[in-house]
Amino acid sequence: MLKEEDKIFKNLYGFEDWSLAGAKKRGIWTNTKSLVEKGSDNIVEEIKNSQLRGRGGAGFPAGLKWSFMPKKSGKPHYLVVNADESEPGTCKDREIMRNDPHLLLEGCLIAGFAMHAHVCYIYIRGEYYSEYSNLQKAIDEAYENQLIGNNACGTNWEFNIYLHRGAGAYICGEETALLESLEGKKGQPRLKPPFPAATGLYGYPTTVTNVETVAVAPTILRKGSKWFASLGNENNTGTKIFSISGHVNNPCNVEEEMGIRLKELIEKHAGGVIGGWENLLAVIPGGASVPLIPKSICDNVKMDFDSLKEVNSGLGTAAVIVMNKSTDIVEAITRLSHFYKHESCGQCTPCREGTGWMYRIMKKMVEGNIQVQEIDKLIDVTKQVEGHTICALGDAAAWPIQGLMRHFRHEVEKRIKEYAIGRVA
Ligand code: SF4
Repeated sequence: MLKEEDKIFKNLYGFEDWSLAGAKKRGIWTNTKSLVEKGSDNIVEEIKNSQLRGRGGAGFPAGLKWSFMPKKSGKPHYLVVNADESEPGTCKDREIMRNDPHLLLEGCLIAGFAMHAHVCYIYIRGEYYSEYSNLQKAIDEAYENQLIGNNACGTNWEFNIYLHRGAGAYICGEETALLESLEGKKGQPRLKPPFPAATGLYGYPTTVTNVETVAVAPTILRKGSKWFASLGNENNTGTKIFSISGHVNNPCNVEEEMGIRLKELIEKHAGGVIGGWENLLAVIPGGASVPLIPKSICDNVKMDFDSLKEVNSGLGTAAVIVMNKSTDIVEAITRLSHFYKHESCGQCTPCREGTGWMYRIMKKMVEGNIQVQEIDKLIDVTKQVEGHTICALGDAAAWPIQGLMRHFRHEVEKRIKEYAIGRVA
């Protein structure tokens, strides 16, 4: 279990004052000037050495991503913080923004300075009203106290932060769709390359990064990359906020060490599975888009990027959706298929047509009103969609179905047989 002194998010539950006065008591905005004075290259190097992987879902090494920004481009550089948090099951960034907004703002200054950006946009999902309101108040406080602005923290570095509210489209959590939306256009993903580090917001070098990734940066610099890398496992280091929901006795967000066993996470922090561990059916371990894992895998699996990849799933946003044996697993995945069909931006054919096709077949499967051969046809369609689209929404729509068929095909086949018998009778 993560020791109290190793926790980065000391006000995750909002029990303490979230304003500047409270933040300072927790050590935020302390010696920020000296952190900035380490210099941009050293900051990036330190983040690289910590082995921090992006907390927004993809798990790309954060320091490496920051290093992609050009050093002297002569153009404006932008830091864009992705606070869209729309992945079903995920509710961690909202706690940071609502209960410890200065932690994020200090991280913005550090990350922005490291990538030579004078301007930062925080793109927050429109539904997050309290989070928006607290964050805006914190930004105002930071300006009033010269922590950001013309001479941020007395560093002679000009740094401005703007908060932008989205309008509630899931696809705007995809980095290039987010940039389009920020520019005032329809939120549709861009073809890559060019990548945002070369051609991003308004065509200038940009890094889009997740709230949690930015918020942990100052603590890594204060305590050192070695400390961060000593937590968790090789290549899966540090702490992580897990969002645990579904059939547990105490749904919660909790900061834990990366690589904690899933069973321990659920039993120690979420009060266990409703009906006991033996009543567990399956878990979606990383937000709606990753494939589910059945109880037999949940018994021992570790919660980190590589361990979950080994079992054909993913850590994603570490949003753990627990389903006990009362769940209609086929209907649950069908519900997700409907979500992805609804949220497809419609720009590319495999996704626009495939998500609708997959949903319609899944709906019939809930009743068993299909032929057995259609299971393989459905799997084939998921493979045709996966990896053949502009953005990862196509993969996100395909993976839950693949996970279902990998582990619960027998359940679908049983329904087909029962439906056939019922029809004949
Ligand atoms: Fe739009 Fe789907 Fe294509 Fe992404 S994969 S660009 S959401 S149609």
